[in-house]
This record gives sequence, structure tokens and C-alpha cells, in this order.
Amino acid sequence: MNDASRTGAVEGGVEEKLMERLTNAFELARWRAARRMQGGMIGFVPTMGALHAGHLSLIEAAGRQCAHVVASIFVNPTQFGPQEDFSRYPRTLEPDCAMLAEAGCDAVYLPEVAEIYPEGFQTSVRVGSLAEDLCGRVRPGHFDGVALVVTILLNRVQPDSAFFGLKDYQQFLIVRRLVTDLALPVQVVGLPIIREADGLAMSSRNRYLTPEERVRAAALHQALLAARAARRAGEEVGRELERIARAHLEQAGLDQVEYVAVRAADSLQPITRVTDQEDPVMLLAVRLGSARLIDNMILARVD
Ligand code: AMP
Repeated sequence: MNDASRTGAVEGGVEEKLMERLTNAFELARWRAARRMQGGMIGFVPTMGALHAGHLSLIEAAGRQCAHVVASIFVNPTQFGPQEDFSRYPRTLEPDCAMLAEAGCDAVYLPEVAEIYPEGFQTSVRVGSLAEDLCGRVRPGHFDGVALVVTILLNRVQPDSAFFGLKDYQQFLIVRRLVTDLALPVQVVGLPIIREADGLAMSSRNRYLTPEERVRAAALHQALLAARAARRAGEEVGRELERIARAHLEQAGLDQVEYVAVRAADSLQPITRVTDQEDPVMLLAVRLGSARLIDNMILARVD
């Protein structure tokens, strides 16, 4: 944000950047037009709120690459199944806005459901095989909802670049695919997973964990590290790498494993034997108490 007129004095005389709150398409279009007049790229970070340092890393990366950064907070109903946590998903608007402003975000788009899905809405966006397996199999329709809302948000915001976390690895590949296939004029950027000190990937859903579950949840990361260590020690068989990770999870008492999968990092196709040419990705999904946790790691042979 280069516009000095949008800084304001706060108590104690400290200068703080103001962040605009945009609640509808009209305000968003006006904000975009003003930024376009100033020049420089617009970066966009879509979120569902309940923000943590993982989200903020995307805002900061967008700020390094773009002159103007806009985030969105929208808990998208179409990506939740009927038995899922849509109604109890944490909504923490004021702390979220404070964190975004502090991280250097210039504007936040806060649409209502009827703004994204007005009466009469009936269009769908479906990505093919990339969306069918793993989380797509466990959560039928989930990625249709993601593909739909991302398409709508990209069309609304019209950013130059959009920033996504590799924490949601399958989602990242799906978004990259749909942007290519639909020829959307935006660059999709994927950024590394931000973790807690014990390795647990940060997630808005971690707050569902009890203190005891929270301790056990570190086993997801340890399982991935164990698989990566096995690969580095020469293990090439996909199933064996999966067995090693699964044993780790079970040892920690995480017995509700939805999947442990070694896949090709670009296509998510199953891998029988890992080659030297290509580093695969291992993806995990586990239920723990009332939370569903996912994580992944590229099983790189060297750092
Ligand atoms: P969500 O609010 O969960 O929809 O996430 C919004 C964006 O933040 C997505 O692109 C996520 O992949 C990303 N994200 C969530 N958690 C993390 C994390 N721990 N590290 C990096 N990115 C993350």
C-alpha cells in the first residue's frame, strides 16, 4: 500500500495502516479501480477466517510480490458436507481483521453468503480426477464447492496473483488446474506449510482439539518425517512408506486414519515404486476427537 493518505494516527501517536473492509462487489470493484490507478500488482489471499500464522505467511508473501494485498474471509457453505462443521466453524472477525492489518493487508473482502450465491444461482465448477481421490473421496462434493467459490472469488477480485498454502496440497493442485483450464488471468502461488513448534501444521480446526489430543496430534508430522527418513535410507516401495507412516500414527493412538498415501507430486497418481527422478508427496488425513486433520510432505531425497 503506497498511499500515505491511508495511514491513521492511533493512541500513543503510533502510525498504523488502515485496512479497508469491503462487503460487496461494488465496494470491491471501487477499491480495485483505485489500486489499478495507482499501479502495481494486486495480490489476493482467500481464507475462511479464524486466522493463524499460516494465513499471515500468505499475506506477507503477497506483500513481498504485490503493491496491493486483499484477503477474503468467507466460510463457504458449498464446500461443507451436510454432517460437517459449517455451523460450528470458528468465526473470529475482529481478531482476524486486526491480524490482517498488522500483517500489512490493505483490504479485506467480507461477503455474505447471498453475495456469493445470489438467489437463482445454479452453476457448478467441477475439476476431474485430481478432485476425486483422497479428500475428494472422504468428503464428496467438497472440491466442487472449493472450485466454485475460488472461481467466483477470482472473478470478483480480479487479482494478478493469488496465494494458497501447500497445507491443503490437493486443493492447491485443483486450483492451479482450474485456473489453467478456464484460462483465468491470474498467477497461482503455493507457499510452504507453517507449523507449530512440535511440528503440527497450523490449522483453524486445531482449536477443536482437547489439550490431550493436541499433544497426540504432533504424530502427523512425525509420521511424515519417518516416511521421509525411510526414503532417505533407500526405501522405494510406496506401500512400505505408507506402512511406516501409518504405524507411527497408530503408535500415537491415532487410529481413525482416513488415508495415508504416497502420490506423484503433480498428478496425485498412485506410486508403486519411488524413482530417483521424481520426489513424491505423502498425504495424510486423520480424525482426532471432533477434528479432522490433514498434512503432507514432499518425500525429498535431499533437502
Ligand atoms: P482456510 O482458511 O483454511 O481456507 O485457508 C486459507 C488458506 O490458508 C489456504 O490457502 C490454506 O492452504 C492456507 N493455510 C492454512 N493453514 C496453513 C498453514 N499451516 N501453512 C500455510 N498455509 C496455510
